[in-house]
Amino acid sequence: MSNLELRPAPGLCGGTGRTGPVRDVQPGKQVPLGESTVVRRLLPNLGRRMVGAWCFVDLPHCLKGMGGAPIGPDDIVGEPGMQVPPHPHMGLQTVSWLHEGEVLHRDSLGSLQTVRPRELGLMTSGRAIAHSEESPHGHGPFLHGAQLWVALPGAHRDTAPAFEHHTDLPVLNGGGLSATVLLGELDGATSPGTTYSPLVGADLTLTAGTDTRLPVDPDFEYAALTISGESEVDGVRLAPGTLLYLGCGRSELPLRADTDSSLMLLGGEPFEEHIIMWWNFVGRSQEDIETARADWTTGSRFGTVHGYDGDRLAAPELPPVGLKPRGRVR
Ligand code: MN
Repeated sequence: MSNLELRPAPGLCGGTGRTGPVRDVQPGKQVPLGESTVVRRLLPNLGRRMVGAWCFVDLPHCLKGMGGAPIGPDDIVGEPGMQVPPHPHMGLQTVSWLHEGEVLHRDSLGSLQTVRPRELGLMTSGRAIAHSEESPHGHGPFLHGAQLWVALPGAHRDTAPAFEHHTDLPVLNGGGLSATVLLGELDGATSPGTTYSPLVGADLTLTAGTDTRLPVDPDFEYAALTISGESEVDGVRLAPGTLLYLGCGRSELPLRADTDSSLMLLGGEPFEEHIIMWWNFVGRSQEDIETARADWTTGSRFGTVHGYDGDRLAAPELPPVGLKPRGRVR
């Protein structure tokens, strides 16, 4: 996923201290990406920049056109579907998680991988990678899922770039809940995906009538977001396309559903480093960002994505005012 906004505002993250349990509903906003794609952006949002090391969450439900519904799987028959040209990343990991459809991933390491529903596409940019994402030729009628970024802690932000594809993820079942652990650890089940800070990302499927409690880590902060259907998380009814920030300090999370529904649970140790997020980069200083932008523009550092039918993305202009590293809360 690329941030395709023409004038991306600097999203700034980090902070100190842990909150206790809270129930803070934060509606996402609809963001147009290019001419044919609209997404629901849940993080960063008006109130919060990060949840653990999770620093960016888009639900790219609507890939048909600007006029389409913002929420729910969209019919992309006869449309190009997702077409994200080669673009760079730095200082983060990207997580692709689909419920429907397929995305063909290419990167500057030479990876060529179709990521299918309920498979983890995990790209670690480290200090530099470039990739493209597209709906494969002859793609199916729907594309539905989430695109997420994880900030790399300072000690690992220059790590070697890597792409991982995991098709056998651990699943916890019980009480009407089925939890697939995409990344990190949940209730003793650990994803094979490489992580660089203590965190979890899980896909939760609730069947109608579910009323259960999921064991969670009181030292983590958590947020839940709805993918489809409606569910109740810690007593809060969550409409699709909203994010519920839960804070820290829980050892279990009550989950209820009257209808079949699915949501994602994101969590982690509060990310205390201050970072700068601009376009597709996570850095620590204005100079980091300026250098990354210049390196992409001049064709150095990030390598070349081969095989994509089209031009690579140009970096947007930097904002006229300086970028400052900020904390995780606004
Ligand atoms: Mn990307």
